[in-house]
Amino acid sequence: MVDVTRVALVAEQAVEASFAALNRYIAFAPISSDPEAAPRLLELAEVIRTDLAKLGFSRARVLELSDALPCVAAEWTGAGLGAPTVLVYGHFDVQPVKGEAWSTDPHAIVRKGDRLYGRGSADDVGGWLSHLVAMEAWLKETGGLPCNIKILLEGEEEIGSPNLERFMDAYPDAFDSDAMVLTDCENPSVDIPGLTVSLRGLLEVEVSVTSAASDVHSGLWGNVVPDPATTLLALLARIVDEDGRLRVARRAIDPEWLASSRDVPLNDAVIRTGARLLDGVAPLPERGLTPAAWVWRQPAVTVLSTTFPAPGSEKNAIRRSASAKLSLRIAPGQTSDELFAAIERELRRDVPGGLTVSLERMPGAAASWDYTAAGPAFDAADRAYEKAWGRAPLRVGLGGSIPFVALFGKRFARLPLVLNGVIDPETGAHGPNESMHVGVYTKTVKANVHLYAELAQALAK
Ligand SMILES: [Zn+2]
Repeated sequence: MVDVTRVALVAEQAVEASFAALNRYIAFAPISSDPEAAPRLLELAEVIRTDLAKLGFSRARVLELSDALPCVAAEWTGAGLGAPTVLVYGHFDVQPVKGEAWSTDPHAIVRKGDRLYGRGSADDVGGWLSHLVAMEAWLKETGGLPCNIKILLEGEEEIGSPNLERFMDAYPDAFDSDAMVLTDCENPSVDIPGLTVSLRGLLEVEVSVTSAASDVHSGLWGNVVPDPATTLLALLARIVDEDGRLRVARRAIDPEWLASSRDVPLNDAVIRTGARLLDGVAPLPERGLTPAAWVWRQPAVTVLSTTFPAPGSEKNAIRRSASAKLSLRIAPGQTSDELFAAIERELRRDVPGGLTVSLERMPGAAASWDYTAAGPAFDAADRAYEKAWGRAPLRVGLGGSIPFVALFGKRFARLPLVLNGVIDPETGAHGPNESMHVGVYTKTVKANVHLYAELAQALAK
């Protein structure tokens, strides 16, 4: 009988030593958005492949496709056919640092107190390294892992995973598994682990209001012909409530989930600091929901640009048309068609003066994702986190979109998808002084140790 707690202890003792590996990987500055960094990403992929082979993984390989940065894949199949296969996903590319004020070298790990600073420390090198440390402890301590493992590390996550679906098509067996652990997500605090279960999608729409064949003199015609600019403003005011929130296409929120979202440490003080609000400016009122519900579960609108005359182009004329580009966040479980139809209905009904109102969808939409994290694999994840963190992970959402998550959600919807990570609210991913909290990392390493054992039991064939 394997003593899993003993393996977790061995893993915990290896945490400190793994900082050197973290430093070695991020020193490559694997910035996927920089074409000049491509050779470094390839080199790093080869280093990771070698390390995985040394760890005891078989078929450690660099996956390549034309016009794509590589992925690294490896597997361990020693648990046999009766054991499930768990795929672990992470990414080894990082965001650029150009123009950011770092107080340390972004491409080296510098420890200050409880945090390790460096680009990629938490997003996402620390994320997948937390698995390698856990797996190494299993292999060292027991000579094997409780389940079969596939590791898949992507090199293009930070540029939106443009080729991940091609990799899925070209190397299906690198993805073929019974459960997936996607480790690139956020914990609500350093004490509360998170399990991501929803994303909002994105839809951009241009709204145009037109009144006449040409601009006309505002002195001669003002007060008798309509001004498309003010009509557009009135129409936009229709789709928001008194607080400025999108009023249409709102979703019903499950009362049980709403109650649990009170645990999310997203309160007025956090919002004020996080969004850098000026003194005297208040976060929007809750109106019966929670900030987490508003950010994760409801659709939202932002004005991206307008064609109102810019300073310097003033003239005393009523312009013939006005338009605005809107960014709409699609609620989990809502489709872009549904949201578009609701907006269109509202903006085109009873237009004052019969002005022409047209809506056009812009390219580059992202689907929302809504997942029910329930069943044996999630009971297993809850138990693993209880052992390592002292509590089950809180089901959290994300207000933005992550292409790889939406893609895994689309391709592998029937599989348990466990979305965890080592990011916390102070990580500052994608900004200056990105850091990983040592406590979060250590607890995630231990949770991973337990997770493989729990999943092996829960999903045994
Ligand atoms: Zn990431």
